[in-house]
This record gives sequence, C-alpha cells and structure tokens, in this order.
Amino acid sequence: DEGFTADSVAALDRAGHFPLCMHNMQRGLEVNQHLKYEGRKQYGTFLRAIGLSVEESLKFWRMMFKKVTDDKFNKEYAYNIKHSYGLVGSRRAYEPQNCVHIGMSGVGRDEIHGCPYKEFSPDRLASELREMGITDTAELSKIRDLTQKHQYSMACTRVFELTHQGGEPSKETIMAPNTYFSLSYEHAK
Ligand code: SF4
Repeated sequence: DEGFTADSVAALDRAGHFPLCMHNMQRGLEVNQHLKYEGRKQYGTFLRAIGLSVEESLKFWRMMFKKVTDDKFNKEYAYNIKHSYGLVGSRRAYEPQNCVHIGMSGVGRDEIHGCPYKEFSPDRLASELREMGITDTAELSKIRDLTQKHQYSMACTRVFELTHQGGEPSKETIMAPNTYFSLSYEHAK
C-alpha cells in the first residue's frame, strides 16, 4: 500500500502505469467530468487496490465530478464509494475486476469501461498504441492479430513489454489491471 493521494492519480496515469482500460477511463473522466456506473465500479475498485484510501477516493471523485453539486455528490456517489470500501451496507470491500471479468462487461454507446483491446476498432486501437509510443508496424499488426483472436490479455502484455521493457518478455501475463500497475510501478522504481 503506497498511500497514493487523489491528486497523484492523473500523474500515475500519465507516467504510463495504467493499462489501456484504466487510462481510457481516467481520460474519459477528465474530458466528461463524469463516468457511468460500471466505469465507476471498474475504475474505483482498481484505484482502491492500488492503494487509494477511502478518504482520498472520496476526494478524487469529488474533484473529478466538477459539474455535480456537493449535495448530489453526497447523496448519490459518496455512499457507493464508502460501500465499495466495505464501510457501509454489507461491509465487504469490492474486489477489483480481472481482465476476463472486464472483458465480459457489456459496454453501451455512451459508456467508457470494458477492455479496449476488445471494444476499440482496429484503427482506434492502433492510434492509441501509437500514442503510447508503439510505432513498429509489425508489432502493431501482431497486437491486432491477438485481439482478433480474442487474446486480449496477451495483447495487453505485449503492449506492456514494448512500452516498459524494450520488448523483453514480461515476468507474467497481465490477467488483471492491477498486475499491469504493479509491474509498471515496480519497474519505474
Ligand atoms: Fe485492462 Fe486487462 Fe484489457 Fe489490459 S487486458 S486493457 S488490463 S482489461
């Protein structure tokens, strides 16, 4: 538990520590100042698992939901955040979702969650990967082939290897967003 603060989340993302699914939701939150229910659940449990305390989580979501009044925030969102930390209601903290679980979630048109390796069109995925610094066309087509074979974790692991280890094999296959984060954070130390 590193004890990250609400203010450090955006920087952790910009440093490349978040897998594409979480990067996509962080960017969506920054742009829309909102994230729908499933997204809040996937992103919120990820943030809890990287070590954001409930206080920092409440600060984070309050800060990001700029268009929402304090009253609405307290009534509609604060309870759910405390609930996900196991502080109210059933008093069981929600586990972060793994890649299989995230890959199975239905994603509506105006929603930003799920696994981008599954959800994004080939063109959109390629442009995201180029933004992450992957420009080698052979690598881009290998990643596309993996996604077309529904091997999303393999695609994500390859992206981790290319963006963090100069293409050298990763210690483990990314089966959960939190694994990507830990490997990336450890790597940067
Ligand atoms: Fe996220 Fe897993 Fe998809 Fe990678 S493979 S983007 S960690 S859901």
